[in-house]
Amino acid sequence: MIIDLAELLSRRNFTADFTVSFDRESLHIISEDYPIRKKKPFEFHLANEENRRLYIHAEGEMQVAIPCDRCLRKTNFPFSLVIDRTLYLSEGAVVIPEEERDTFAFLADGHSIDCDILVFDEILVNWPTKVLCRNDCKGLCPVCGRNLNDGDCGHDRFVPDPRMAGIQDLFKNFKEV
Ligand SMILES: [Zn+2]
Ligand SMILES: [Zn+2]
Repeated sequence: MIIDLAELLSRRNFTADFTVSFDRESLHIISEDYPIRKKKPFEFHLANEENRRLYIHAEGEMQVAIPCDRCLRKTNFPFSLVIDRTLYLSEGAVVIPEEERDTFAFLADGHSIDCDILVFDEILVNWPTKVLCRNDCKGLCPVCGRNLNDGDCGHDRFVPDPRMAGIQDLFKNFKEV
């Protein structure tokens, strides 16, 4: 959702609160789509300080379906997001310094902000390095691909450690003597 800043920027020290819903139904990251399972509207608080700075504070929560690292089953991961950004104002408009044009590309123009992109940036910063459907997830059988949380398939899943190969050879030679 886009917030129009016209009123906020026209009055020094003006503050305003907005309830903003995240418009997207899924997150597209690299070549994957992650469905959003649950979301609550974000509470945005904006403050124009002396027509020099614009403070943005927002909080919200959502659950995103991310595949489990071991069994690939989609797992609802909860995000608790807190956004704090400061933008600079000049002559009643938001000014983005040259060196920050890439990171602040979410600004549609000097008089509005795109909250979706602001939220999306924060999700990326908070993206988990590991997601498990449960702490003791058994993963997939390397032989048949069965999800072992659903029961055992009976396959021998012993994967020899390559570091053991040398020791096994030694042992064989010893026996042959
Ligand atoms: Zn799992
Ligand atoms: Zn199997």
